[in-house]
Amino acid sequence: MSEKLNEIRKILEKHSEMLQNAIPLIASENITSPAVDEACASDFSHRYAEGWVGERVYAGTEYIDKIETICMELARQYFDCVHADVRPISGVVANLAMYNAFTSRNNGKMLIMPIPKGGHISHAPKYTKSGRAIYGTAGTVRGLEIEYMAFDNDEMNIDPEETAKIIREFEPELVLFGGSVFLFPHPVKELVDVAKEVGASVGYDAAHVAGLIGSGYFQDPLKEGADCMTMSTHKTLPGPQHGAITTDKEDLVEDLKSNTFPALLSNHHLHNVAGLAVALTEMLEFGKKYHKQVIENAKALGQALNERGMNVLCEHKGFTESHQIVLDIVNFKDSIGLGGDIERILEKANIIINRNLLPWDIKEGRHYMNPGGLRLGTSEVTRLGMGKSEMEAIADFFEQLIVQEKDPLLVKDEVAEFRKQYQSIKYCFQDSNKAYEYLKFY
Ligand SMILES: *Cc1c(COP(=O)(O)O)cnc(C)c1O
Repeated sequence: MSEKLNEIRKILEKHSEMLQNAIPLIASENITSPAVDEACASDFSHRYAEGWVGERVYAGTEYIDKIETICMELARQYFDCVHADVRPISGVVANLAMYNAFTSRNNGKMLIMPIPKGGHISHAPKYTKSGRAIYGTAGTVRGLEIEYMAFDNDEMNIDPEETAKIIREFEPELVLFGGSVFLFPHPVKELVDVAKEVGASVGYDAAHVAGLIGSGYFQDPLKEGADCMTMSTHKTLPGPQHGAITTDKEDLVEDLKSNTFPALLSNHHLHNVAGLAVALTEMLEFGKKYHKQVIENAKALGQALNERGMNVLCEHKGFTESHQIVLDIVNFKDSIGLGGDIERILEKANIIINRNLLPWDIKEGRHYMNPGGLRLGTSEVTRLGMGKSEMEAIADFFEQLIVQEKDPLLVKDEVAEFRKQYQSIKYCFQDSNKAYEYLKFY
């Protein structure tokens, strides 16, 4: 048995070692601070506290209630909202609670961002229009009928005029903004009134951009008229893997609460609620500086890659207003390959990114396994203390691998050398800590 334990420990150590020497550019990921980790490794991970604070189904929750109350207060403060439920255990669970609340009364129709253009699988139907099974959460779990917003490929954003027409014709119960490729703020304020005209509620999935919103650098969907906002708490918001729902509308609070528990949860992962409380404290203190740098870095990385012969989308719009950029790598098809191939080449050099569908990929016969795009995010490298000059250094590595076709194993050594100076986590309370070096066996 102890041999298995050793094996497990070794694998975890290898994973940490890999990350200590890598450039982590996955847009949906981030790294938590030691203070967050400490809270997440607390005894709360052994406990149950079903229900709302003050209405628990379990005993022994005195201190759990205190932390959850603090966490809700911090979330209301950070997101400047009337109500924040910090119990959803992930972004998808938060979305399900939102679907429960807004699509149970009438026709079960929901309007979303098209999936190939950056919509998320948790918004998607069970089958595509062509009849192919995709098992999207909204269709599979809730049986929702899904229609897609119009999308402007040049602007990499929802087309407000065309989408207004679709809303009037389709008459959904829920119009859902937000997605996983998210370069620019969505036209929420432009479309709220149209949604209201047909009696639709308006939701906003802030899984990717929650931290940017909280720190005040991205649109505030609730202020633009959305009924509720759902999120993951671990993408631009550097908290533990968890979820949350916010609203400014008092009359929606009870329904949103009940559609979270008992509708979807038993345990709500109390240790992560504690970790989230710590992460929110950090972001109220350091978020302004951190997220400003995240966005500046994304723009700088876009510029640097573009200058080195890689086609970054939306140059005419400064590449991005979020933590993400998207590259069109189709012109490397005949040299080193497409998105999947390039993802693997970069991975060999310890540069960790996502391949990504471009909005026009499906039409041009490319699919998800080897698409025409790459998606990069700067949340984690910024947390490691990197700035504009480091974005240029990262772009140099991309140029060596993608344009100059240098051996990834040689580049891997240079990447490790480069990473030596960035081994601690910034924008948190203790910044002398070592990133990735902590393995927790409490
Ligand atoms: C990542 C993501 C989710 C899923 O969040 P989890 O916390 O992993 O469940 C939901 N919606 C969007 C738009 C996302 O990008």
